[in-house]
Amino acid sequence: MTLMTQPASALRPLHPTLYRLAQDGHSLDFLFAQCPACSALTFPSNAPGCMQCGDPLRDAQTLRRPGGGELLEFVTLHVPLTPGMVVPSIAGDVRIAPGIVEEGVIGVKDEGSLRPGMRLRAVAEPDEAQGVYACRFVPEEQGASA
Ligand SMILES: [Zn+2]
Repeated sequence: MTLMTQPASALRPLHPTLYRLAQDGHSLDFLFAQCPACSALTFPSNAPGCMQCGDPLRDAQTLRRPGGGELLEFVTLHVPLTPGMVVPSIAGDVRIAPGIVEEGVIGVKDEGSLRPGMRLRAVAEPDEAQGVYACRFVPEEQGASA
């Protein structure tokens, strides 16, 4: 391999309050706040209060957990929602922890390989021109080759 690709570890997270690169240099860990009052998880970790009990989370621990979850539903977008967005692209609702559903970009070519209820994991998608990596969800079994 003569390809000069930078490892994702040389890049910054596009959304540093949401995720960080995991030990393997490819997967993402999500950042949660653990409520000191009721110990429920809140996402993202810098949310203004506990999703469960409303505690202001001033003394909350930030918890890193392997990013991923259960695919609930998904849709293929043919019109860019934001400038520079590549279409078609697949957006999905992913349950990343009990009671926490986030919308994410699914990193597969077409939705034929997707089905509700399948496990997804979060991986880094490097954007070397911007010096950042973004979050993509991929089916768990093919995450290593994505
Ligand atoms: Zn709480």
